[in-house]
Amino acid sequence: MTKQPPESEDAIVWRDQPVAPPIRRLNEGGLRELPWLADLSLLLDRKAPLILRSDACRETIASHLGDVLVEQGGLLIGSAWSLTPEEPDAPLAVLCVEEAVPALDAVGSGTSLRMDTELWGRAQALAAARGDIIVGWYHSHPDLGAFFSFTDRRTQAAVFRHPYSLGLVIDPIRGEERWFLGRRCREVGPACQFPGRHASLDQDQDGGADHEDR
Ligand SMILES: [Zn+2]
Repeated sequence: MTKQPPESEDAIVWRDQPVAPPIRRLNEGGLRELPWLADLSLLLDRKAPLILRSDACRETIASHLGDVLVEQGGLLIGSAWSLTPEEPDAPLAVLCVEEAVPALDAVGSGTSLRMDTELWGRAQALAAARGDIIVGWYHSHPDLGAFFSFTDRRTQAAVFRHPYSLGLVIDPIRGEERWFLGRRCREVGPACQFPGRHASLDQDQDGGADHEDR
């Protein structure tokens, strides 16, 4: 195998995804996939999108980051929803972060992080299988505090530059986390926990608990 040229410190390459459309309409059909948002009017008054994180995503990230003192990270998979997705600057209403894909071979030095094409391929395959998209990235700042550094802002502006792109930074030692949205890294959140859109659909297909009662 030919060896790939060395990548720079910020060697995160955005691979545009064939999955379309990236931002889905939050109409009644959309709400059936998000039954936790029963009252749409709650979203109309919000100035920032509602960030939902599934229980599965939180568990994956927690077990990946653990309490190690090396910076680690990965990609986030989920879905983006707007009430008016056809408008060019349509405000996002909801961002569902469904799953985290850890960068298993990331070389963390404590201050830098690499994510390679293997990670992107793995994340895209999972996203496509679920009908989701890559909505962003996460990484840890062990005992440094959860903030976006200059490098983090530069990475997000260059790579995670979509209106729905989320950056999550976590300090697992201090128990802090913060979320940043879009190329300008606007702070949003905190995230609300939810069971997960796919978890809900799976339960519906199984017929819920009714079968157990027969
Ligand atoms: Zn950072």
